[in-house]
Amino acid sequence: MLDLTYETPKPKVIAGAKHDWELVIGLEVHAQVSSNAKLFSGASTQFGAEPNSNVAFVDSAMPGMLPVINEYCVAQAVRTGLGLKAEIHLKSAFDRKNYFYPDLPQGYQISQLYEPIVGEGEILVDMGPGVARLVRIERIHLEQDAGKSVHDMDPNMSFVDLNRTGVALMEIVSRPDIRGPEEAAAYVTKMRQILRYLGTCDGNMQNGNLRADVNVSICRPGQYEKYMETQDFSHLGTRCEIKNMNSMRFIQAAIEYEARRQIAIVEGGGEVSQETRLYDPDKNETRSMRSKEEAHDYRYFPCPDLLPLEIEQEWVDDIGKGLPELPDEKKARFINDYGVTEYDASVLTAEVYLANYFEASVGKGDGKKTANWVINEVLGRANKAETAPQDLVAPEANAAILAMVASDEISTKIAKEVLEIHIETKDDPAKIVEDKGLKQVTDTGAIEAALDEIIAANPAQVEKAKQNPKLAGWFVGQVMKATGGKANPKAVNQLVAQKLNG
Ligand code: ADP
Ligand code: MG
Repeated sequence: MLDLTYETPKPKVIAGAKHDWELVIGLEVHAQVSSNAKLFSGASTQFGAEPNSNVAFVDSAMPGMLPVINEYCVAQAVRTGLGLKAEIHLKSAFDRKNYFYPDLPQGYQISQLYEPIVGEGEILVDMGPGVARLVRIERIHLEQDAGKSVHDMDPNMSFVDLNRTGVALMEIVSRPDIRGPEEAAAYVTKMRQILRYLGTCDGNMQNGNLRADVNVSICRPGQYEKYMETQDFSHLGTRCEIKNMNSMRFIQAAIEYEARRQIAIVEGGGEVSQETRLYDPDKNETRSMRSKEEAHDYRYFPCPDLLPLEIEQEWVDDIGKGLPELPDEKKARFINDYGVTEYDASVLTAEVYLANYFEASVGKGDGKKTANWVINEVLGRANKAETAPQDLVAPEANAAILAMVASDEISTKIAKEVLEIHIETKDDPAKIVEDKGLKQVTDTGAIEAALDEIIAANPAQVEKAKQNPKLAGWFVGQVMKATGGKANPKAVNQLVAQKLNG
């Protein structure tokens, strides 16, 4: 089996004017739960619906309305916890986080501060072949999403769309174990991949379906190790939180900018103040949004409308039994069973549908050759055509083409031709080979006849080739040409050698 060992994250070191500095990063990923209905109401969660059409009385906070927990959303959070090898809390509780916002009609968000449903877990962050780094997960809690204020529809008015109000979110909080911009992006990539495998979040970052708050601080070399030994945060620098990031590229740029900003402050004799900042991609800078509010500013208290949430171990176990094979395991199995490289296994397991596509294409054939074929021929063409591989070529067609190559019926070169024709016509690959007469000539008699003709017509070349064996290639090329590329190259090479030396 592939060794799934890992190393500890590697700090990015930035040289300041006076000292070297290391980065410390912790991420809070907000993942919208895949579910047809909201967390506490039966209203639909459909994205892009007519504004304010998916709003139950509970969502708009009509007096006297009471929230009722959606069991499916709870199951999704448990599934996510199990997928991150985390501790599941059989008892959790909801709290009110009080604040005013026009798109939050309740005047509070129902969240889980004190007793989250999921506790400590871990995730392996892939940094390229052979390098996986372990990041600890602190907790996952369930909470409601807010609505949307729309400021750009009218010069004088703002509008509110409550469709998103009350949609279930999972907040997945990491420990500050991420040590650089690339690791942060790789962490979000891996998180998104796992959530998509689990089917607990679509991970559509453009739609804001998955977004991250990025906490950044700087410290001198050696400080982080002291923090790790003691788990005492006073060894670390003061963090700033960059809100609502929904692009891998911007996450990296924002961290880079923010680290340098903090270094300049500290080296200039100042102090970083803990605050919430926003990243402006146009200017590539972060700007202060507000000073960091503390939990007590929100007047958290247990939500009186909801009983503590109690779930049974048996139910959790059942959910566990239904978990799909996850990316790390799938990747290891591909390397092991199909003999593909770790890099190829990573490409093929990036998405479940791609992994399934690959396995269906292998059929009874060779895993390694199929991997090369799918990655180089099919994915290349699919990317160019901006379409999914399965919409371009059915996996059965790949298997059929590769089976013909394996049995020497067609050469690899002809296989690519068959693929092109199949993409155009959707014709059965075997029929294409038959109709177009693309079958490889393995009949040595036919090859020999072609070669004899060439030898007879080129006596001077024959003499030269006898002096210099390297020139034999010319005859191989001529035979291939004469047979329309259909001669079996192995047979041609053998015959040419025989005739020229014999
Ligand atoms: P808050 O409610 O203030 O956002 P959370 O506990 O939800 O606090 O999340 C804090 C996040 O900040 C976590 O991901 C944590 O790992 C990270 N963090 C804490 N201290 C630091 C630090 N010194 N530098 C970078 N990240 C930090
Ligand atoms: Mg938080």
